[in-house]
Amino acid sequence: MKKWLLGFAALIASSSALALTPWQKIDHPVSGTAQAVGGFANGCIIGAHPLPLNSPDYQVMRTDQRRYFGHPDLLAFIQRLSSQANQKALGTVLIGDMAMPAGGRFSSGHASHQSGLDVDIWLQLPRQRWSAQQLLKPQPIDLVSGDGKQVVDRQWQPQIESLIKMAAQDSEVTRIFVNPAIKQRLCQDAGADRGWLHKVRPWFGHRAHMHVRLRCPAGSLECLDQDAPPVGDGCGAELASWFKPHQPNANPVKKEPPPLPPTCQALLDSHFANR
Ligand SMILES: [Zn+2]
Repeated sequence: MKKWLLGFAALIASSSALALTPWQKIDHPVSGTAQAVGGFANGCIIGAHPLPLNSPDYQVMRTDQRRYFGHPDLLAFIQRLSSQANQKALGTVLIGDMAMPAGGRFSSGHASHQSGLDVDIWLQLPRQRWSAQQLLKPQPIDLVSGDGKQVVDRQWQPQIESLIKMAAQDSEVTRIFVNPAIKQRLCQDAGADRGWLHKVRPWFGHRAHMHVRLRCPAGSLECLDQDAPPVGDGCGAELASWFKPHQPNANPVKKEPPPLPPTCQALLDSHFANR
């Protein structure tokens, strides 16, 4: 390769490295007692644990990304949910992104997943376990029609509904984000047992996975919980508003991220000072 071309390649490599947040350069959990710090979209985690990668009940996807860290409460939830799913013979639970080893902000993709209390779980439950290759390059199933108005019937399965309901009924779970069309389908199918539906929140995307969020753990004194979701099953006017034509935002301002919680800032400072 010509010298100028090499220089050019190095420049590209360094500018894409610059795009990484400092959190993406921390490859091990910060030692200490497990503590979720700050908010879901502006926080970090001390003493994160890796989700065990071998389980009869779930499989972890894209382990090369090293996003399988979380608060022990999150690990316990994943294990609890997956073992219930296994007992009910729903299929294998597929685990997507949790948090990075010290949590924190991603350069792209997720806004939250920062404090070790969020997990993406795919809305497909394979009967046969996936191969290592499939897990590294997983194929999502889009459950929502092209116009976004409904789920695709031939992809929708009762097991998916059972999995979302079981997660929503878990007392540690505060919110589950799914596409509005998926929430609508759950609303239609729920029957009289609707107490769990209020935790299932319509949100953009989330056509192939649900995003599950836990409450702040008891010992995490600097963890910021969100307000509880509105009362009611959320199947009425709020859900309907998602299906109206969207008003374009008159002022799409790119907001600067808020300042980090002091504990997270201190953690970054000491990590990079020690290098
Ligand atoms: Zn997510």
